[in-house]
Amino acid sequence: MSASLVQFYPRHRVSQAVEMPVSTAARLRLLRLSVTDRCNFRCRYCMPVEGVTKVAHQDLLPLENIVNLVQWLVAHAGIDRVRLTGGEPLLRSGIEQLVSDLVAIAGVREVSLTTNGSLLPRMAWGLKAAGLSRVNISLDSLDEERFAEVTRGGHLQPTLNGIAAAQEAGLTPIKLNTVLRRSTWKQEVPALLDYAAQAGFEIRFIELMRTGTERAWCETEFVSVDEVCAGLGAEIYPVEEESRASARRTTMNWYGAPIAVGWITPRSHPFCSRCDRLRMDAQGRLRRCLMDPAQLDLANLLRWVNGDSAKREFDSYIAGKVPPLSMDNALAMSQIGG
Ligand code: SAM
Repeated sequence: MSASLVQFYPRHRVSQAVEMPVSTAARLRLLRLSVTDRCNFRCRYCMPVEGVTKVAHQDLLPLENIVNLVQWLVAHAGIDRVRLTGGEPLLRSGIEQLVSDLVAIAGVREVSLTTNGSLLPRMAWGLKAAGLSRVNISLDSLDEERFAEVTRGGHLQPTLNGIAAAQEAGLTPIKLNTVLRRSTWKQEVPALLDYAAQAGFEIRFIELMRTGTERAWCETEFVSVDEVCAGLGAEIYPVEEESRASARRTTMNWYGAPIAVGWITPRSHPFCSRCDRLRMDAQGRLRRCLMDPAQLDLANLLRWVNGDSAKREFDSYIAGKVPPLSMDNALAMSQIGG
């Protein structure tokens, strides 16, 4: 019953969205905080095979400076949730301390983390003790060979162990993130739905965006959520939800099992008009949109400029948070902060 999903999304193209800029007063809520550009996987759509030129350690902000910047964003920009990301955020040393410092900021309602899961078997309990609420775990395949192919050498088992560890430690509800690919979705999606149904996880399917060095490959491998839903032929019911979420949440009847399935459609049905996100990298630079090259160096701004002027500068940058002219970025997602 994919038709219900199609109706659920008013279809619009990016160019139409550009005619209706996001309100400059759009309320920011979620900060996606990239704590490192390093990763132990090399997912083909995310990172070049040789890796990216790594930011030198001395150019990364110390964690206490990151906490100060987040504090400023909470006080001045309405941010009330922080999601740690990267690169692979669990590679940043001191991540547990960062979590507990972020949780302690008055006004922060939730600190969560997006990870490939491979380091969770030894870190899940420490993160929970530090105050982390929950994790989103990337999982593109349950087949060892295809997992290694898409992650370019990653192993499936540590990620599965990481999912189990997160569950045992109470980093729940766990959400799985799967990027859809034309050449593999017919094998991956049913297997992942079986797995999610059995474990009781929510799973989110993400349309492949054109980022990084392999944008031509991303274009060939793109498959829309609508095509996947139609191909699955399962009953899918929309779930009423907070209108600002990027994923459209549904309940799918998967061979009698109800599964919570989210659909993230940046390409076929962009959700720019309800975007409440801001990104910051480990050097303290803000990015108002994944696809927008313009950045604001908040760390430097607050170093050199006094309170009111800094706020004016910030507001004028955020006023330019409009839907992108194209859904295309030559930077790798690991550099942008996915
Ligand atoms: N290393 C962590 C992980 O694996 O989740 C966090 C960083 S990763 C960049 C965050 C998310 O971005 C992952 O779910 C990944 O699949 C997604 N992602 C990266 N590049 C993408 C692309 N070109 N299109 C769609 N999703 C992408």
